[in-house]
Amino acid sequence: MGVLARYRERLPVTEHTPMVDLREGSTPLVPSRNIGPALGLERLYFKYEGLNPTGSFKDRGMVVAVAKAMEEGARVLVCASTGNTSASAAAYAASQRLRAIVVVPDGKIALNKLAQALMYGAKVVQIKGNFDAALSTVRDLAEHYPVALVNSVNPYRLEGQKTAAFEIVEELGEAPDYLMLPVGNAGNITAYWKGFKEELAAGHSRQLPRMVGAQAEGAAPIVRGRPVEKPKTVASAIEIGNPASWEGATSARDESGGAIEAVSDTEILQAQIRLASSEGLFAEPASVAPLALLVRLVQEGRIQRDSTTVIVLTGSGLKDPEAALANVEPPIQLDGDARSLAKALKL
Ligand SMILES: *Cc1c(COP(=O)(O)O)cnc(C)c1O
Repeated sequence: MGVLARYRERLPVTEHTPMVDLREGSTPLVPSRNIGPALGLERLYFKYEGLNPTGSFKDRGMVVAVAKAMEEGARVLVCASTGNTSASAAAYAASQRLRAIVVVPDGKIALNKLAQALMYGAKVVQIKGNFDAALSTVRDLAEHYPVALVNSVNPYRLEGQKTAAFEIVEELGEAPDYLMLPVGNAGNITAYWKGFKEELAAGHSRQLPRMVGAQAEGAAPIVRGRPVEKPKTVASAIEIGNPASWEGATSARDESGGAIEAVSDTEILQAQIRLASSEGLFAEPASVAPLALLVRLVQEGRIQRDSTTVIVLTGSGLKDPEAALANVEPPIQLDGDARSLAKALKL
């Protein structure tokens, strides 16, 4: 069952809303086997959003945005994207036989995300400049032409994304003490916070989590308190200099007593390898920024050891293998028998 069917009553679904569905959502909450214990944390979980149909959490919101756009009669979807939004928009458009136009910053999107958009049949436009420039171009387009804008400035996206908070509360029996996630355009932190507040109001949880966001040092406008003109980070999904949901993010941080802090690209890549090689979970660089931040918060004694922490792994590591492969040993080359293999492996 997809997000629209599972959470019909809690989403803006009417009798006229088409039940668009790629079986998104319902992702696993994986308990940490090794990193949590190594950090001395009793309860650490990973919400593995990489298992959504296009490999990122974007599908949760996209399904709602596409259904509502169709309900309103749209036949053409448009979005600006650092990659995952375009993959998601393109997939849902394909399944509903709509046209998708995706505008991406030239040379800044991970190869596999581009491959997805092209394979799903979207029209891909690469424009000069960064994500922020791409977003302002499509906003302008949507204002003057009959196309539906499905970026996270579209409120239906955030409605769909809040369902991940519902799933976490359902699984844990209440909200965690800390919810950690990467912050780019800041739609997701805004959506989770809304979701947790709705869970509290519905009586499903007695508490709200502290919301802890991670930005990359080279793209940390919220941490610095001003837009970054030329954002630069290995974590391309959060390479954003002027977040569309800036206020939503600072409200989530301040109302929850949380924090938004920056980590370096080196810390991000180290966290990515640590997660993959000690948990068996491969996530893209943006997704592991909060893990890098967690390591620091534990070192600084800022997280209680008996607390429950959930890290949202926003996208699959298969999205961007190039970012990861620079940091691991290449395969051994061998032309020989079992004996020479054993020797090479020092068995
Ligand atoms: C979009 C995205 C983010 C950033 O989410 P925002 O809602 O823009 O803050 C983080 N990680 C991945 C994998 C993404 O696709």
